[in-house]
Amino acid sequence: MTQAQPPVHFGSETLAIRCGQNRGPEGEHNDPIFTTSSFVFASAAEAARRFTSANDGNVYSRFTNPTVHSFEQRLATLEGARYGIATASGMSAILSLCLGVLKAGDHVVAADNLFGSSISLFTGILSRFGIETDFVSTTEPSAWRQAIRDETRMLFAESPTNPLAEITDIRALGALAREAGAILVVDNCFCTPVLQQPLSLGAQVVIHSATKYLDGQGRCVGGAVVTDSQEIHDAVFSVLRTGGTCMSPFNAWVFLKGLETLSLRLRAHCESARQLARWLETQEGIGRVYYPGLDSHPQHRLAASQQRDFGGIVSFDLAAPSREKAFAFIDACQWLSITGNFGDAKTTITHPATTTHGRLSQEQRDQAGIGEGLIRVSAGLENVADIQAELQLGLTAARAL
Ligand SMILES: *Cc1c(COP(=O)(O)O)cnc(C)c1O
Repeated sequence: MTQAQPPVHFGSETLAIRCGQNRGPEGEHNDPIFTTSSFVFASAAEAARRFTSANDGNVYSRFTNPTVHSFEQRLATLEGARYGIATASGMSAILSLCLGVLKAGDHVVAADNLFGSSISLFTGILSRFGIETDFVSTTEPSAWRQAIRDETRMLFAESPTNPLAEITDIRALGALAREAGAILVVDNCFCTPVLQQPLSLGAQVVIHSATKYLDGQGRCVGGAVVTDSQEIHDAVFSVLRTGGTCMSPFNAWVFLKGLETLSLRLRAHCESARQLARWLETQEGIGRVYYPGLDSHPQHRLAASQQRDFGGIVSFDLAAPSREKAFAFIDACQWLSITGNFGDAKTTITHPATTTHGRLSQEQRDQAGIGEGLIRVSAGLENVADIQAELQLGLTAARAL
């Protein structure tokens, strides 16, 4: 019994709940979890046929699983794309994409303040396979243009960036990529398709760490590659099938459920982050506040032109910054979660310089603008006055030093 799929012009709230499900003979209302490694065939001939063309049905859960497929379809639809490939993690999505579309001798231009592990993947691993990456300022399309060479095959951006909330002009980079015969990849972790659809702005590929907002309750690690290009899909699918960078069906089910509440949750995350950012900006002891929704954000208008709202993450520098002050701030908070994750119902607080960006060299951190007094808060779904009271405790402790 297959369920009618809603038309793609439906609102994203509807698509996030209604698309991607294929009901089975039991008529189950909720999406089932197919915890099976392989699938059986009616005959040897059918087995032979399915192994040569996995598109015709399930074979083996490394590359075909109905629960994983439902998640892929639902996420792709929300991004306005034809294809989604779910992967074991966000990093494994980036790795699978690069293994699929790049080869030795190719060149990548990437933003200098990407997620820390993304930078490490390009500099520490892909470089050993003859793929060279140059890092440029995410906010200056002219720097991207200058870095492009004949061998450039990929532009890789993240917008807003983590943790400094710098905005990339996705339309401008899309035009540059087309001119150069390269693909533009956008890591859409911070915004999710609810707030930003990079493909509609000119990107060819969207990367997700499902670990963050798509799950939304900090339960599972997962990722996805989303694209409208059959060629890119086929290349990445072949890496998944042969390289085994796949998502588990249980995790896919958690993410499917997460997608159903994504727009409601993001509305609340954005509203709380906006309130906290505005409050932080007025506090003594705080240096710069990094939140694209603030009028003071240098790219507020660009953000407003490509995003529907400004996201749930607020970062800020302490005045007269030091590691000691930042640690005192964080340790004075009584119940905020000290953890590297974000996009959770629980508010999390992080010192990027020693955690998420701790593996970078000092020089890389300086280039990325990650100072010792920088703190990142991912606004959760708790009462915002309670969150603010926690930050007030931190502020008082930092001011006392
Ligand atoms: C977390 C994150 C990743 C990596 O995702 P994992 O699921 O942790 O592997 C990639 N990009 C961004 C922007 C992230 O925040």
